[in-house]
Amino acid sequence: YNHVYGKGKWKDFDPKDLLLTYNALKVLEARYLLKDPNTLRYIETPQMMFRRVAKYLASVELKYGKSESEVKALEEKFYEIMSNLRFLPNTPTLMNSGTRLGILSACFVIPVRDSMTTPEGDGIYDALRAMALVHQQGGGTGFDFSELRPKGDVVASTAGVASGPVSFMKIFDVSTDVVKQGGKRRGANMGVMHVWHAEIEDFINSKSGKLKDVQLQNFNISVGVYDYFMEKVERGEEVPLITPRKTRIPGTDHDYYINKARNYMSEEWAQEEILNELEEKGGAVWLDESKIITVDEALVIAEKEGAIIRWINARSLFNEIVKSAWDSGDPGLLFIDEINRRHPVWYLGKINATNPCGEEPLLPWESCNLGSINLEKFVKETENGKYIDWDGLAETIKYAVRLLDNVIDANKYPLKQIEQATKSTRKVGLGVMGLARMLIKLGIPYDSVDAIYLSYQVAKFIYYHAFKTSIELAKEKGSFPVYDPLRYHDIWESARPFEYLLEVTKVEGKPSEYVRKLTAIVDKLDFSELKAERIKHGLRNATVVSVAPTGTISIIAGTSSSIEPLFALAFIRNVAVGKFMEIDSLFLEYLRKYELDNPEVVKKVAETGTVGENMFMPATIRKLFRTAHEVPPEFHLLHQAAWQQWNDSGTSKTINLRSEEPPETVERVYLMAWKLGVKGITVYRDKSKSQQVIYFGIKK
Ligand code: ADP
Repeated sequence: YNHVYGKGKWKDFDPKDLLLTYNALKVLEARYLLKDPNTLRYIETPQMMFRRVAKYLASVELKYGKSESEVKALEEKFYEIMSNLRFLPNTPTLMNSGTRLGILSACFVIPVRDSMTTPEGDGIYDALRAMALVHQQGGGTGFDFSELRPKGDVVASTAGVASGPVSFMKIFDVSTDVVKQGGKRRGANMGVMHVWHAEIEDFINSKSGKLKDVQLQNFNISVGVYDYFMEKVERGEEVPLITPRKTRIPGTDHDYYINKARNYMSEEWAQEEILNELEEKGGAVWLDESKIITVDEALVIAEKEGAIIRWINARSLFNEIVKSAWDSGDPGLLFIDEINRRHPVWYLGKINATNPCGEEPLLPWESCNLGSINLEKFVKETENGKYIDWDGLAETIKYAVRLLDNVIDANKYPLKQIEQATKSTRKVGLGVMGLARMLIKLGIPYDSVDAIYLSYQVAKFIYYHAFKTSIELAKEKGSFPVYDPLRYHDIWESARPFEYLLEVTKVEGKPSEYVRKLTAIVDKLDFSELKAERIKHGLRNATVVSVAPTGTISIIAGTSSSIEPLFALAFIRNVAVGKFMEIDSLFLEYLRKYELDNPEVVKKVAETGTVGENMFMPATIRKLFRTAHEVPPEFHLLHQAAWQQWNDSGTSKTINLRSEEPPETVERVYLMAWKLGVKGITVYRDKSKSQQVIYFGIKK
């Protein structure tokens, strides 16, 4: 505080800052709190930062005809949910609101056409420029590189050969290194290539083996896979590898074309007819918007046009993906069919890529701003036991979605294409953090059927209320411009039942009476009534929820990140002035309960970060405090799948594996993920990279 106020000005101290942990203050001080550019002295405290964000985002509503006093009341609400750490918007909103830098969103997808530059501004070097502008202000970018012709292919204009997508990705990577985000953080990217691309094998291996920790260090990479490919993997059949130069994506975009067919045939009976025909033909494409053909027929055309470079066994290609992912964590998979099937505004085109961490599948040029609810804050305890404060949660959701919607108007967009795409769908992504700590507070182990059930129910509740808020906002301010009440796809209609998730993962058991009672309120939600309201009043945002990793905002909120389990219960941090022991506050509470809170015990725990194998610990503690590597992969996946069912965008999750897990585990996880209907999957095997963000136990 001396930094900010100067000595002797402590009268301005705001006790709400005492809610912040030591680590939160350190992060805020290092990157978020504003400084005077001349003196480099801090000019705000954490509370002043929350106030700055609240004020700026509430002021947008003046444009919608709200009075000064109404805006002030909203500002108070926004300030309250942030300062009580019940909700935080994503990093760019916290950093840039009300400042010269204007990007407030975290997620962008930029198209890359197979040309150096185009009049529309979406050639390779146009994309590079767009990326630099976004990174400069703290956003993350995703690209589908599948439209670029493979290396060795012809280039007509120079009669030379193409250098291929992977070599272009290296340029994007170097640019990311150079453009540091105002010195605050380095940019992040997602690079996608679809599985039919002739250069797919180079792509799969571009970050592993000898290239591990060397190449494309600013990229996460994902292979875009389709249902037809996964089926061929199961059957061990051949698939073609294709150059996009001649035929764009022949025979592969099954669901996209079904959607397109729906789009062009607005009459109900015509839709039925097309869908029946597609079913009969078993996997079809819609060519030239006039004729339906099967995948096999499309391949004949591709062959005739010379677009098929060669054939490869789907299983061996899949094994290469698995081997690489086991080795280095990359590539992940994106399930392109699932992404498009459950895209509410499917009629706008096909989604081919996501933002860096996968929680936002977006159309070309779209951006999305995120914010997350701190679940741990809604666990309450009375003499009669623990309960979830559902009313408080619903109230927080209401203001959080409103705040996120205002971000779209407050944003200063770096490119007109981004502004136009973003404002036409107005996608926002409300997510969560602190799930692990919520579960601990409720006494439910993360790797239990009860925990999965709780995730499923809480996700459903949040989706319902976020959607409801978006309808209410539409009543007040109008729907998103490209909203089509009849074609909009209600994703809750295709949510898989809870029992299905257990069936796929072969996890046995039933939710207990305790967790059913805790979440009984969720069973009463009526989604069909909500749909009727949506059709009647409209909808403000094409998507409303999204589960982000909350890497830094969870530190600010002092809670566990996103829907992940705890990573370590205690660890030793070496810093310049000495060694510090850090310990999870809930874990410490439990140690106290059992009178185990002495330095010797804590030191012992800090060596490994875990207590699962520690026979001296009470069984309750060992069960409740299972950390990321102790949780079986099935339970990681189940949480992801549970949240994905009630999510109109994506769910970011890392399936953490122990270092001794074999490649077969990765294979099992990837196949199960496809069946569970998640939109993407990433694994990370402990110690598989030389540099790891968080080390287990002892930290350097
Ligand atoms: P935060 O906690 O800082 O708000 P998250 O960890 O939830 O952010 O990440 C959300 C999204 O923000 C990511 O998926 C990505 O799009 C973007 N992002 C995260 N870290 C970076 C970074 N270093 N550079 C650029 N974008 C980032």
